[in-house]
Amino acid sequence: MSDRRTDQHRRTGEPLLSVRNLKKHYPITEGILSKEVGRVRAVDGIDFDVYPGETVGIVGESGCGKSTAASSLIRLEEPTDGSVLFDGEDITEYDREEMKAFRRRVQMIFQDPESSFDPRMSIGDAIAEPLTVQGLTDTARRREIIADLLERVGLSASDADRYPHELSGGQKQRVGLARALSMNPDMIIADEPVSALDVSIQSEILALMNDLQEKFGLSILIISHNLAVIRQICDRVAVMYLGEIVELGRTDEVFANPQHPYTRALLASIPTADPTDRGMGVELTGDVPSPSNPPSGCRFHTRCPEVIQPEGYEFEQSVWRRVMDLRQKLDSGSIDVEAIRDMILTETDSYETTAEIPTAKTRVRVREEFDIPKPLSDPQAESVLEEAIEEIVTGNDEAAREYLAAEFATPCETQSPVLEDTESGQTASCLRIENELPPSEVEQTVRSD
Ligand code: ADP
Ligand code: MG
Repeated sequence: MSDRRTDQHRRTGEPLLSVRNLKKHYPITEGILSKEVGRVRAVDGIDFDVYPGETVGIVGESGCGKSTAASSLIRLEEPTDGSVLFDGEDITEYDREEMKAFRRRVQMIFQDPESSFDPRMSIGDAIAEPLTVQGLTDTARRREIIADLLERVGLSASDADRYPHELSGGQKQRVGLARALSMNPDMIIADEPVSALDVSIQSEILALMNDLQEKFGLSILIISHNLAVIRQICDRVAVMYLGEIVELGRTDEVFANPQHPYTRALLASIPTADPTDRGMGVELTGDVPSPSNPPSGCRFHTRCPEVIQPEGYEFEQSVWRRVMDLRQKLDSGSIDVEAIRDMILTETDSYETTAEIPTAKTRVRVREEFDIPKPLSDPQAESVLEEAIEEIVTGNDEAAREYLAAEFATPCETQSPVLEDTESGQTASCLRIENELPPSEVEQTVRSD
């Protein structure tokens, strides 16, 4: 971390790396002609900068596009769209030779150091490999450089003669760093560099990266699903959700005053030493939607604990979330009333067939499935909901869908928020910010599912 230096650069310098509208879509193809029938929008238009000497983190749940962002920004995979300026030049226009030079200046470190080592090659040879490729053939000079690099990463010169299988995971990641440093890079991109390591070792490796960054004046882009990792090492952080950056700012500001409900939810899920401190958000439920068919409006609206309530009704926020869950299940066609009837049937012997189960009983069961209390505190909302559930249990899903969509519409499902500056310093993309709504008071509730 290098707050002072970063701020200085931000005032006076140019970014070392500038990513603009970066997209990576994977085509989904079908048939022998590989006709494109859809796209996985793994990275869907992200912008960020990394300044010289700065550490920037990308954080988000698994599958949100972090690794794809890294590999497409250094063109391990060709980006679908966007530009990547490095030291003022657009690398997306580089030819092979220029890319080679660029890849020396930007070194990648991966989660699994194991896979990046040849088991038959000694540590010294592994570190020297890039140097040899570059034409450094003087053996004595090479040994000197290897010894120096090993010591800089906290190992000893004699470790050069050892083999990968003799090293622990943490030691291997140190060797990975030594090898990256042998190229004298300007920047290191590290994708989950400590995720495979024990927690105590994680912290050591991060401290080492911090130390190396200062000594070598490196820029670091670090990718992690783990907020604790980000907090330890990053000057700034970008929070990603489903291929987009939803919040971007100084790490201390983002942690102290998260502006996006997704960031709040991520922060709430960090275990803390104090059991009474449960953060200010609720834990996330539900799966990350598929990036091949991202939700309309705000991509987070299908899981957002703070999804904006429909006008004209008064819900408790957590109950409103569950009503939205019901709407989504209905939209995806997966409320199985027959299965619910079967369940009732197995619990009682007073009905001969599912057809004889009273709809009132089924209605109650549907509400229970979604944890929706009865009645809702707002009588008007209650009557809308009951009417919709009546339609559902009588098989008129389409009518229920339309009725709920009309009555319980939220801007979150139709409007796409954009990143905006916030009062606490960072940028975030949430309609609550655009509409000047305060963060929602979300009650801590324990979900039964
Ligand atoms: P993260 O690193 O955040 O866990 P990834 O960047 O690996 O996420 O993946 C983002 C999304 O892109 C995921 O839904 C993943 O399944 C999809 N994806 C990644 N690589 C490919 C590929 N080669 N073809 C199709 N989809 C891919
Ligand atoms: Mg990844």
